[in-house]
Amino acid sequence: MPPRHSRLSSAGRLAEFPLIEDLARRFGATGRSVLTGIGDDAAILRPPSGDLFLLTTDLLAEGVHFDLTTATFEAIGYKAAAANLSDIAAMGGIPRYLLVSLAIPSGHTQAEIRRLYRGMMSAGRPHRVELIGGDTSSSRQGLFINLTLAGTAKPDHILTRSGAQVGDLLYVTGTLGDSLAGLQLLTGAHGRPVRAGTSLSKEARRYLVERHLRPTPRLAVGQLLAKHRLATSAIDLSDGLSGDLTHICEQSRAGAEVDMLTLPLSPACLDYAEAYRKNPFELALAGGEDYELLITVSPKNKTKVERFARSFDCRLSCIGRIQSRKRGLTVIDPDGSSHKLAITSYRHFEAKSSVR
Ligand code: ADP
Ligand code: MG
Repeated sequence: MPPRHSRLSSAGRLAEFPLIEDLARRFGATGRSVLTGIGDDAAILRPPSGDLFLLTTDLLAEGVHFDLTTATFEAIGYKAAAANLSDIAAMGGIPRYLLVSLAIPSGHTQAEIRRLYRGMMSAGRPHRVELIGGDTSSSRQGLFINLTLAGTAKPDHILTRSGAQVGDLLYVTGTLGDSLAGLQLLTGAHGRPVRAGTSLSKEARRYLVERHLRPTPRLAVGQLLAKHRLATSAIDLSDGLSGDLTHICEQSRAGAEVDMLTLPLSPACLDYAEAYRKNPFELALAGGEDYELLITVSPKNKTKVERFARSFDCRLSCIGRIQSRKRGLTVIDPDGSSHKLAITSYRHFEAKSSVR
């Protein structure tokens, strides 16, 4: 980065170098495979020998991906890191090194940026992710946060989107729709309760909001499936089931059929749907940011995968199957009728997003 533009205004409340020193001291990587972390012109790493690198990056723009009037710095940091961890989970990898670049508008304090990192590291530390560097710039308008996460995997232990075969079973971890319900509760988009006095319990509300703000990346599940070669393809659910299933189908040149009645719903999501007259299956199909894993499994591995699932700390539900590309993406409704799947996921640069 050319230094002329990269320095934060010293007249502002933040100065670039004290900020980096503070972040390095509190959150910087030491030891393990990081020979040099924050402090030199580039980080020096020694990855486990024979491993491949998996690299994922996300750019978050204020007003597009997060809103500082409704989310805390801690929550924004946690979720940004969780989204990247979830990408590594979907590839079956081990997350290892994190780079964080920021463009910070005037008016923010070092304490706020520290909270952002605290959130990121609270998502990453349980998985031993190490902060190894980044870049810091001022911004004329809005906060920008870029995370780059490197993971590693054995060459023959990698999950991709492209291996699904006709006849494979579709499985999903955890429950779906919770995050969208939580978002609607946070933003007031839930509407009024069906009847006066029908309201959601405090616990259910808290659960759904928590699922939106602090999703759990399914790393152990992804790694186990990869290691035992139990999945023919995998993706994490960031855009929503219908959108992400489309990605698997496109990459695998296949179609899929989802059985609506088998979509896993949490008790809180069902209560929410009842209180606010939402279709819980629609929430599950369209809702984004659940960060669960969607995987395809050959029928010959059905028993094995379901046996392994007992050791997961989340549910694993069979929700359909892969079919020929010609048959496309279809849904079996609760009444047994079959129809084409409507794809409802957020797309940037389109005049109108089809959901949210
Ligand atoms: P350069 O000008 O060579 O890019 P910098 O002064 O930007 O170097 O960075 C110095 C060190 O601090 C580097 O190790 C870099 O990776 C790290 N760093 C800079 N900004 C951040 C940040 N926001 N978070 C974490 N590490 C950072
Ligand atoms: Mg720099």
